[in-house]
Amino acid sequence: MENKSNSSNFIKHIVAEDIKSGKHDEIVTRFPPEPNGYLHIGHAKSIVLNFELADEFKGRTNLRFDDTNPLKEDVEYVESIKEDVKWLGYDWDGLFFASNYFDEMYERAVLLIKKGLAYVEDLSQEEIRAYRGTLTEPGKESPSRTRSVEENLDLFERMKNGEFKNGEKVLRAKIDMASPNINLRDPVIYRISHATHHNTGDKWCIYPMYTFAHPLEDAIEGVTHSICTLEFEDQRPFYDWVIEHCEMEATPRQYEFARLNLTNTVMSKRKLKLLVDENIVDGWDDPRMPTISGLRRKGYTPDAIRNFCREIGVARAFSTVDEQMLEHFIREDLKLKAPRTMAVLKPLKVVITNYPEGQVEMLDAEINPENEEMGTRQIPFSREIYIEQDDFMVDPPKKYFRLFPGNEVRLKHAYFIKCEEVIKDEEGNVIELRCTYDPETKSGTGFTGRKVKGTLHWVEATNAKEAEFRLYEPLILDDAGDEGEDKSFLEKINPNSLEVLKGYIEPNMGEAKPNDKFQFFRHGYFNVDKKHTTAEKVVFNRIVSLKSSFKL
Ligand code: ATP
Ligand code: MG
Repeated sequence: MENKSNSSNFIKHIVAEDIKSGKHDEIVTRFPPEPNGYLHIGHAKSIVLNFELADEFKGRTNLRFDDTNPLKEDVEYVESIKEDVKWLGYDWDGLFFASNYFDEMYERAVLLIKKGLAYVEDLSQEEIRAYRGTLTEPGKESPSRTRSVEENLDLFERMKNGEFKNGEKVLRAKIDMASPNINLRDPVIYRISHATHHNTGDKWCIYPMYTFAHPLEDAIEGVTHSICTLEFEDQRPFYDWVIEHCEMEATPRQYEFARLNLTNTVMSKRKLKLLVDENIVDGWDDPRMPTISGLRRKGYTPDAIRNFCREIGVARAFSTVDEQMLEHFIREDLKLKAPRTMAVLKPLKVVITNYPEGQVEMLDAEINPENEEMGTRQIPFSREIYIEQDDFMVDPPKKYFRLFPGNEVRLKHAYFIKCEEVIKDEEGNVIELRCTYDPETKSGTGFTGRKVKGTLHWVEATNAKEAEFRLYEPLILDDAGDEGEDKSFLEKINPNSLEVLKGYIEPNMGEAKPNDKFQFFRHGYFNVDKKHTTAEKVVFNRIVSLKSSFKL
């Protein structure tokens, strides 16, 4: 894969040491999404880290679906996750489902019971919480804690057989109710959930808790370095406890890094799902979403996303990355690849009164001045063209170099035109301009007679193709959106995050296919939308404007 960054990070150092010391012959990592939503740019950070780490040390990476919660998971999500990982450019070695290990997990739980290290709890969820204590006070032991091994084995089996209702009993690890680490105060490891699972159907009505299942999954697959985000740091002692007491052969180690946060967006799947469910966006792949599928539909490329993830690096310090940094990488990627063309987003008709009626001439224009190999295209020019409404003012301020009555400007790839007359409708809106052109000033002929300050883009009117343009602004108005778990971020939704315009494109773009990318002169980079484009109408998503104040 091109463009791989050589930058190091603390996890790479650990892996290199483990290889050097002979601790591992081969390293194995995994990307373990829960299939309860679509992947987002934060997941991309974890994907790039796990796959490239294994790749660099000639190891393996598994894609593992962490599907231990039957209520939230769905095959739609499984399929979208596979598609997104592939699209980002990564091939997994093993494709696994945590649910395929349910038998083994059950056996390991039975082993804990037999060793006197797990017990069936009768207390309710609220009581368990109340008994747990606080950061400053130790917890209280539950009466269930002293049950005999035999009774625990019997009750756990009856939990499995469906004899109890949801919440009536749980299985807990027996560790230490006075531990300073609350996660070690007899954590719940199995719960009852009478629900159909997307993979195992109705076979189970008890499901392992994530913190119990995850270390077992890693160990079963022989994962050597289990990389997760910082909020699991306090779980690490329990992770190691499970590996040790369940007598797993392999001993994976957990390492934590800071999750990616971006300005002006929310990142948790739960919040993203809310945006979808409340119809605030038109699906998980809405171009305003920070999902991989949303970014793809907006026009992001795998290279841009991978390069972004490599650049932000991997550290333990919390940080929020400016979304302009992501934009920087798509501009970089498209600069030499995207054909340049002209599009008028808010059309204003211009009639060139001294241009021969009925005549259409073809003008030569380069496709990408920064990449001459892309060649040239032909664009028609005639007596009627469209320019941008915003490129004309009846009464301009000083230093306005675009079109106004009496002023002359250059039309990109064509001629100088001068505004002679302004046509208004009954309400005083400008609906048409009458201009004259100077045949001497044709682009490419080396005309030096006089200079003009403004250069406008335009599209010839009789051959132009209609098109729709979708311009996006951030979905969330400030950076606080990702804090907290409540719905309050919905109040910070930007009501103007989508602007839909109808205008014109050059006729030579007739065959634009979904996901084709262009640079529209002066407007930015655009992608042909795959959802709304039809045989009759091309719809473009603006990926990013041309300029930014952002410096890397
Ligand atoms: P979310 O809160 O968005 O649902 P999650 O952590 O619950 O995220 P998982 O499906 O469990 O989602 O995540 C799969 C992997 O991706 C985990 O290893 C997790 O640490 C990692 N991951 C999730 N979000 C981020 C993020 N913002 N930055 C970096 N890694 C992330
Ligand atoms: Mg989760």
